This record gives sequence, C-alpha cells and structure tokens, in this order.
Amino acid sequence: MTKLRLAIVGAGPAGIYAADILLKAERNFEVSIDLFDHLPAPYGLVRYGVAPDHPRIKGIINALRDVLDRGDIRLFGNVRYGTDITLHDLKKHYNAVIFATGAVHDANLPIPGIELEGSYGAARFVSWFDGHPDVPRTWPLEAQSVAVIGNGNVALDVSRMLAKHADDLLPTEIPANVYEGLKASPVTDVHVFGRRGPTSVKFTPLELRELGELNDVDIIVHDEDFDYDDAARAAVASNKQVFVIDKVLNQWRKRETGKASRRLHLHFFARPVEVTDDGNGHVGGFRYERTAPDGHGGVVGTGEIRELPIQAIYRAVGYYGSSLPGVPFDKKRGVIPNREGQVLWKGEPGFESSTASQQMYGVYATGWIKRGPVGLIGHTKSDAMETVRHLINDVGNWWRPEAPDEQSIVDLLEARGVEYTNLHGWHRLDQHELALGAEQGRVRVKVVPRHDMVEVSRANVPAEL
Ligand SMILES: Cc1cc2nc3c(=O)[nH]c(=O)nc-3n(C[C@H](O)[C@H](O)[C@H](O)COP(=O)(O)OP(=O)(O)OC[C@H]3O[C@@H](n4cnc5c(N)ncnc54)[C@H](O)[C@@H]3O)c2cc1C
Repeated sequence: MTKLRLAIVGAGPAGIYAADILLKAERNFEVSIDLFDHLPAPYGLVRYGVAPDHPRIKGIINALRDVLDRGDIRLFGNVRYGTDITLHDLKKHYNAVIFATGAVHDANLPIPGIELEGSYGAARFVSWFDGHPDVPRTWPLEAQSVAVIGNGNVALDVSRMLAKHADDLLPTEIPANVYEGLKASPVTDVHVFGRRGPTSVKFTPLELRELGELNDVDIIVHDEDFDYDDAARAAVASNKQVFVIDKVLNQWRKRETGKASRRLHLHFFARPVEVTDDGNGHVGGFRYERTAPDGHGGVVGTGEIRELPIQAIYRAVGYYGSSLPGVPFDKKRGVIPNREGQVLWKGEPGFESSTASQQMYGVYATGWIKRGPVGLIGHTKSDAMETVRHLINDVGNWWRPEAPDEQSIVDLLEARGVEYTNLHGWHRLDQHELALGAEQGRVRVKVVPRHDMVEVSRANVPAEL
C-alpha cells in the first residue's frame, strides 16, 4: 500500500483542519503527518489574533487540541520554514507539503504621514496584546485621542482593546505586561473611521453590539451619517446583517451620553487623506475627506476636508501574507498562487507572478495564504477540504522522497541544532500557563518570550517562571 508522508507548514486552524480532514478521508493509502510551526505554540491566529476578551472564539482551540491529541500527527514547534527547513529538505523527506502559513502583516495604507511616529499597524498591536513572542513587550500607549482606520472586525477589536478599562480585561488571558500597559493608558477618545456609510461596514453585528456594552465607555455616532440614499435603504431592507447593524447604530443615536470617562466615536463617510505631523515627527492629527453616497452603494469625495487632533493612529485595513522561499508568491494579493489549493507557478525559477498557471507538483496551500486574509476560522475548514481533495487525487504526481522514514527529519533538525518543541512540550507549556493563571484567579497567563516558551516546552523551567 502507498504511504503519504505529508508535511504541513503552519499549525493554525487551516493546517490543523487539513490534517484532520486528510486523516478522516476515504483513501486507499496510509498517511503520516508532520506539522511544523515557527512558533513554539500551535493554533496560529486563534491564539495570537482573536481578542482575549472573546473566550467563546478562543474556545475553538479545544476542538483543534482534540485533533492534535489524537496521537497520529507529529507537531514540530519553533521550526521556521525558510530558515530551519527548506523546500529542498521537504522534497527529500516527504511526498508533499501543504502550506498553511496564514497572514500576519498589516496591509499598507498609502497616505502621507502614515510612517510618522505614533502610527501603527493593527496586526502588530493585536500581536502585542495577544502576547506574540516576536513583537516588543512594551507598547507606547501615551495618546489621549486615537484614530482607528477601518470598518472591519479587526478595527473593532483594536478600538475595543484601546477603549476598554484594563481591569475589565484582567479575568482574560492577557499577559501581565499588556495589563500593565493598558492600565497606564491615558486614552479618553477612540475615533473609528470608515470610508463608506453605516450600511456598508464589514463589522459583524455581534462584535458591533459588544461595543455598546463596554463599561464606562460612551458610543458616539453622528446624525449626519444616517441620511441614507436609496441604495442604503435597499441594503437595510434586503440584508439581515445590515438590518441588525443599522438597528444597533440607530439605538445608539438615541442614547444619553456624557457620563462615561471614555468615548468611542464612529465616523462614517470619511476617506483618509493624511496623517499630520505635530512638528516633532510624531502624529499630531488626521485629515480626512467627507464622502457621500454615489447612488450605487459606493461613495464619492465631496472635497470637504476635515481634521481631527490625535496623538496615535492605527490602520486596520487588512492583513497581508508573507512570501516563502522557493514557493511562488502573488505580490498583489499576498497569497500563494493556486487553483483550489494546488499551487501554481510559471514553470521556471524567478517566479513571482500573478499569472502562474502550471501546477507545482507536491505543493499545496490552504487557509489565509491560499485565499487571502478574509473570513472566519470556520472558512478554513472548507478551504482544507478542497485542498485535501486535490492532494488525494494527485497521488500519481507526489514527490518520491529519498529519506521518507520518520526519524530522518528529526535527525536533520537535531543536526542543525534547531530547538524544536513537540506536542508533549506544548502540553507542558499549556499546563504551565493554566497553572500560572490559576494562581492569580485568571483563565491563563501566557508565557510571552520565545526563549521561555521553548524552555518550558523542553522541560527546563526557569526558577522565575
Ligand atoms: C485580529 C483578528 C481577530 C480575529 N478574530 C476572529 C474571530 O473572532 N472569529 C473568527 O472566526 N475568526 C477570527 N479571525 C480570523 C481567523 O483568525 C482566521 O480565519 C484564521 O486564523 C486563518 O487561519 P490560518 O491557519 O490560515 O492562518 P493562521 O491562523 O495565521 O495560522 C498560520 C500559522 O502558520 C505559521 N507560520 C507562518 N509562517 C511560517 C513559517 N515560515 N514557518 C513555519 N510556520 C509558519 C504561523 O506561526 C501560524 O501558526 C481573526 C483574525 C484576526 C487577524
């Protein structure tokens, strides 16, 4: 019987679902899966993206853990594809690879002043408050007035985390340094800006409604943004989600405000124009152009420029994937070019193209690096089903590795001095974090520095932890 030795790079939901689906799939060959991640902990953005005050979503980790704990997938944490292992290595040891490396970087917002000090990408801030080991441990929270650009759920997460009182976050798994940073924040006003109107937002109703429940935070909306045109009225009438969002926002228009110590302002019909300098190379203000409905669900500029004094700005305008050595990359979309998960290339070296069209045998993609950084965790399951279906059907085109035995990749990592962690190590780290949390009456206290994560996982727990 044929055996598929499969490498999956990326232990986020997409990679774990792909492993699960393959193991459960109807097939006439055996499977052995090695799952690599450059972080010492699995679960990708569920651990390092989903906001800490969303325990229900974080709970998806329990389902992902069940997959890993079944015992038929080997986890190699703290192993970075591109430096610790290469495509050449994978070809030597496996029949195929699925890349499930997601997207962690901020998309660009090309306006003057965006590079000023005090201007941040939402992705890095999210990584900070979720305790990602590769971002600085301190975050400059010195602004009283902050702008957040974007009308999607990440913009809501960032605004909520900035506006919420740190003590209301304490029962969650936020790391100690994040609690301390937020506790000292002088913020009083968070302004969220969207280019289009209230009926065109990408917020989900649940996340939007949550803003209205924040302790000691007023939600401010402006009557001028609710002068709907026919297209907006039609959207409210025909789309349940838009209907609920419109209802929530209209309830806030009637609310009494003025007693809370912090405010979260929602500004619509505002096109970013410029981040202005305070004279010292730091963010001093945000200039935007008022837009108006164009009658077809879009907007046009009105020429009216407004400016708001702020001391920090966060752009939450989307994520962007990273290119991987040896693997084609579509720079425009920030994804690996693929057809239903089968990776495509031009067929020759130097492939950085959006017009790749030949299948690169043995190489597959799933999740955000396949589809782009949109959609919920559940969508990565359908991604994985599609990719795995092709992997199974492509059996005649898999690589023929010269060293397919399971020990040889372990020998390679050890020979290179890679301090890889495994599933037992992750269990140790997980238990350690839960125990730290229990001591303080909290869900969990995350270990943040990579070195400490590796030490705990590899059973060398430093005394101070
Ligand atoms: C701020 C934020 C909040 C979100 N909130 C929600 C929510 O509330 N509900 C919801 O359903 N969805 C939410 N999402 C979306 C959800 O996180 C994604 O749909 C999902 O995580 C995408 O899965 P993925 O496996 O493709 O990528 P990821 O989760 O990013 O996993 C990719 C994995 O690949 C690893 N990796 C990357 N490069 C390498 C490399 N070179 N070598 C080895 N490993 C590598 C990474 O370490 C990571 O573990 C949120 C997303 C963000 C950004």
